[in-house]
Amino acid sequence: MDGVSKYFDGGETVANSRLDLEVDDGEFLVILGPSGCGKTTALRLVAGLEDPSEGDIYFDDERVNRWSPSERNVAMVFQNYALYPHMSVRENIAYPLKVRGIPPDERDRRIEEVTELLHIEGQIGKRPAALSGGQRQRVALARAIVREPSVFLLDEPLSNLDAKLRQEMRSELKRLQDELGITTIYVTHNQEEAMSMADTVVVMNRGTIQQISPPEELYSRPRTEWVARFIGSPPMNLFEGRRRNGSIAIGEAGTVDLEGVAGIQGIDAASASASTSTSASLSDDLSLGIRPEDLFLSSERPTSGNALEGTVDTVEPLGEYTLVNVAVDDRLVKVKVGDADVTRGEEVWVTFDDEDAYLYDENGELVTQ
Ligand code: ATP
Repeated sequence: MDGVSKYFDGGETVANSRLDLEVDDGEFLVILGPSGCGKTTALRLVAGLEDPSEGDIYFDDERVNRWSPSERNVAMVFQNYALYPHMSVRENIAYPLKVRGIPPDERDRRIEEVTELLHIEGQIGKRPAALSGGQRQRVALARAIVREPSVFLLDEPLSNLDAKLRQEMRSELKRLQDELGITTIYVTHNQEEAMSMADTVVVMNRGTIQQISPPEELYSRPRTEWVARFIGSPPMNLFEGRRRNGSIAIGEAGTVDLEGVAGIQGIDAASASASTSTSASLSDDLSLGIRPEDLFLSSERPTSGNALEGTVDTVEPLGEYTLVNVAVDDRLVKVKVGDADVTRGEEVWVTFDDEDAYLYDENGELVTQ
């Protein structure tokens, strides 16, 4: 996609704004974002179900803006995978091959292959009504794959399944995509789904692309404050801070040594405090972000390092970890700990290492060298 925008309602609704995006052959790309951010529209543009208002879409080196969906040879699977209810599983899967005039023995061969791949060999005589949700979803995938499309487009295909099945299908889809090596664009608002399956994640917000990264990098290096607030469960704690000489003051709770944070983020700390070019470009209003898993609780004020004073507000034992909400000034700071030996109302110190802090400037951009 080269500068692709899509407007609706005579330009009043901007569904997609200047999207630049490249998907490699065989890549599993996931578009992740909150409801209404423009994910489905982006997918429909690739499929040829919508025309771009501006910009160009290419398949390899061919500009496909005016190509019909069938000319693009894409297969799409939606959340509401519509199977033909009056046809058997076999007939459902065979249908797209019949339409394309594939001869019967070739058809049989491909159906056998795809039903084996999706473990639905035992279901092929049944009607969709006699299948479970997961089996229906597999048939829908089989019907899409059997055509051997050049691109596979999936729009929240697992959201109608229960949590356990969704997780199973997630690994299966990933395996399938690996085996077939088929270029895939997958749309979801579910972070876990995105992170677990994607080679590359595209994070969207309000019609624009916020970040394009491998999953690990999205977590370890969120490039905007918006992404920092979106990724992670629970997401990063962000503090409003003001730069004061070599430190960042966070409300009344404490100050954080800018030198340490900045050094880790790649800024030359000496220059930051000495007001040379780097610090000149660094705004006074900054946000400091720390992930809940990078915060620690201490009952005593540590003798060195960063510490924010607070009061335990709630303790949520979640099995895998315990989430402690600590009131610091007038906000709640989320701290993930293994075992919490604190109780509500207790005074605590929240501590963290410089190297785990992220700084965002007043435009919400990650501060880097
Ligand atoms: P969800 O996760 O809820 O499906 P989404 O991220 O897929 O959301 P889109 O469906 O792409 O978002 O919609 C993006 C914006 O464009 C929304 O504000 C939506 O109301 C608007 N929109 C989408 N399709 C149309 C249309 N055909 N006519 C008018 N507005 C539309």
